[in-house]
Amino acid sequence: MSTPVVSELAPPLRLLLGPGPSMVHPRVLRAMSTPLLGHLDPKFLEIMNEVQAQLRAVFRTENPFTIAVSGTGSAGMEAALVNLLEPGDTAVVVVAGVFGGRMADIVGRCGARLVKIDVPWGEVCDPARIEEALKREGKVKVVALVHAETSTGAHQPLEGLGALCHAHGALLVADTVTSLGGVPVEVDAWGVDACYSGTQKCLSCPPGLAPLTLSPRALEAVKARKTKVQSWYLDAGMVADYWAEGKRVYHHTAPISMVYALRESLRLVLEEGLEARFARHRRHSAALMAGVAALGFEPQAQEGHRLPSLNCIKVPAGVDEAAARKGLLADHSIEIGGGLGPLAGKVWRIGLMGESARQENVLAVLAAIEQALAKQGKLARAGASLAAALESYARS
Ligand SMILES: *Cc1c(COP(=O)(O)O)cnc(C)c1O
Repeated sequence: MSTPVVSELAPPLRLLLGPGPSMVHPRVLRAMSTPLLGHLDPKFLEIMNEVQAQLRAVFRTENPFTIAVSGTGSAGMEAALVNLLEPGDTAVVVVAGVFGGRMADIVGRCGARLVKIDVPWGEVCDPARIEEALKREGKVKVVALVHAETSTGAHQPLEGLGALCHAHGALLVADTVTSLGGVPVEVDAWGVDACYSGTQKCLSCPPGLAPLTLSPRALEAVKARKTKVQSWYLDAGMVADYWAEGKRVYHHTAPISMVYALRESLRLVLEEGLEARFARHRRHSAALMAGVAALGFEPQAQEGHRLPSLNCIKVPAGVDEAAARKGLLADHSIEIGGGLGPLAGKVWRIGLMGESARQENVLAVLAAIEQALAKQGKLARAGASLAAALESYARS
């Protein structure tokens, strides 16, 4: 067999404005290149404690079980569901996009009975529909939904849902992959029993870990299982014995450098302050949306429920959206996202997550979109989007 000739790694510098990964602060990249420790080294155990405390602050929870699952956001999703569900249980899942659909898929793989609440893509679920399902379906173990549906840009309110679920003896599972660190997430105040996220969206860390917090109520449900968790790797009981202070029993080797990166990205989040960070996301999203509106793009998500971190916009008729996105990448080194599933070819998803939510990025992507539209003869008035964005900035 011949030896492959592989040159030294030199990826191009991209402006990441897609649905994740987002831009990463140099401090995070620096943290990743610091020396490795063993995963049971007392110094590393200290670092784990720090990350747990930081995650509790960002999730706004006192839950002792607050960890970073080894794996991306989907591992967090799978961990939440496989630990809470066993064959014969019933789970109500709100499906309003790709990620609600992924939750429903996992529920089926757990052998649980799936009760789907289908919501048109771009809309949010009326809590009355969840209440109706809880009353109708008998004993429901879990109600699961996505707080920030990255495939549509819809922002599902969660306030009051914990109390509603608990009144019916159900647990609330929330996907906050595209909301944590970008818009308010209140695990304790909202009564969320299992809440997971991912590192590469609004936390602006490379992909690789999934923050997860479980309420004492959720942990009781895990303890009361009749069957073993079907996933050895994601078994919360065993993983907890590694993360629990005083125990620290080897389960699997923690991805050390990723934990360093998360620690630094959470330092950046907490230095900025959650409120200031949310305000920054709102401000740049408002400018971007004003800009694209001037070019004829309309929002996909329902009015009053639009995510600032993920701006999903309908591509005007007649525009070759794939060619335009290709131009953005080739001519401007800017990545934005296309549509998923039934929205493929119809929408763009522009992420302004964490470090990506900056004025220079908003103005750069608007200028690039104008050039791409001009190439297709679809630009009515040059500079219109920049003028609208600057006006939005002047107002805020
Ligand atoms: C990105 C995303 C996921 C999956 O995360 P991965 O890191 O890609 O595994 C899950 N849910 C939502 C809402 C997401 O945006």
